Amino acid sequence: MRQGDGLGTPRENDAELRPRHDAGAPRENDAGTGPGDGARDRMIDRMAGERFAGARLWAAMRAPYLASALFALTPLVHGTAPPRPSADEHWNVHLNPDATAAAPVPELGWWLLHHVGHLLRDHHARARPYDTRNRPAPATPHHGRDHQPRDTPHDGLDPARRWACAADAEVNDDLGADLGADLGADLGDAPAGAISPETLGLPDGLLAERYADLLDLIDVPPQLEPCARPPFTGPPAMTGLERELLARAVAAAIEARGTAPGGWRRWAEATLRPEVDWRARLAGLVTRGLARAAGRVDYSYSRPSRRAAAAPSIVLPALLRPLPRVSVLVDTSGSVGRAALGRVLGELDGVLRAAGNRRVDVVCCDTEAHPAQRVRAAAQVELVGGGGTDLRPGFEAAGEGADVLVVLTDGDTPWPPRRPRPYVVVCLFGDRHEAPEWASVVRVPEESA
Ligand SMILES: [Zn+2]
Repeated sequence: MRQGDGLGTPRENDAELRPRHDAGAPRENDAGTGPGDGARDRMIDRMAGERFAGARLWAAMRAPYLASALFALTPLVHGTAPPRPSADEHWNVHLNPDATAAAPVPELGWWLLHHVGHLLRDHHARARPYDTRNRPAPATPHHGRDHQPRDTPHDGLDPARRWACAADAEVNDDLGADLGADLGADLGDAPAGAISPETLGLPDGLLAERYADLLDLIDVPPQLEPCARPPFTGPPAMTGLERELLARAVAAAIEARGTAPGGWRRWAEATLRPEVDWRARLAGLVTRGLARAAGRVDYSYSRPSRRAAAAPSIVLPALLRPLPRVSVLVDTSGSVGRAALGRVLGELDGVLRAAGNRRVDVVCCDTEAHPAQRVRAAAQVELVGGGGTDLRPGFEAAGEGADVLVVLTDGDTPWPPRRPRPYVVVCLFGDRHEAPEWASVVRVPEESA
């Protein structure tokens, strides 16, 4: 077990797998000086650590296919942790000492399964498009195209909270009846106020991105609350590669058993065969970008407002909802095969047709942006270029006036230093390079592309 890591009081937690003690019984004194605050704190911390270990075993017995993930969690016991267990992206579970020591083991176990659900599904990284802290401030909020995106379709439901609710819906979908059938009577259902497709009245089996879209359309009942965020991010216990290997091992265990709930089986399928998944991810991200653009309200003077009749001497702005404009930027430097580009462009056409888009602007770019081609289908574009790569001029040309910008590249390019105005989806060929954090990434495996 991790020691106190300098963020709370020092720990002496080696109690992980010790037998449980009666929670009410005094345990130890400090060298005969009486049960002072320090000794009491240590006792509670130790009880919390033991409770965590018991909860982890409880969870591993109910979902054996998740055992290796549950044992990869690192407990961080500290007084600033929220009352309910929370987890950060580095697989640290933040445990409030008092609340954890008093919590029933099955309830803690449920929360560990919940957070493993978030972590294996990479929800922390998928949350980035919803994180308003990453958004640039609008340059000219009162006119023109640089208006504020419509972020709060419902009162109080900001994008980060909408994502938290959507991610909980995806995770808790698998922590309901399917799992409960194997559980003892002491668990009951999910903790009161937990968000699930059922408590939201939404269909089950969807991805969090889809739930986030649907949450635009409904009000979240006030008694429902997504899980808490930890107050800080603890140290990474695993490298990215180790996390990936862990995810693949868990996915293989799920497939081998075949008894996991449906959501976990779909996740395992996508994890073990990512080439199945990139198409779904591309469709999901582009649809999301279009929906976001369509939700923006543009104040425009180009069409008179109906209220203008009541105030004939003043031109009032009219509300317009322009059709979202989609541009595609294709890296034609030669490092990405033409056949691979063609296949992804064909896939993109299917997504755009399904969304009702009839035209798309395509810009080819090597070290310079070639003239935009306006085509009915992206796959019809003439791929021009070759040589080196610098997509920055392409971003400028293709991003102009676009609401959604889809970029096809292997990522071996300098990137614009700041988030461009359109919603950017990067189809990244292979795994040799990264895209900036402001882009939503679809990793296209080379062998399938
Ligand atoms: Zn959660």
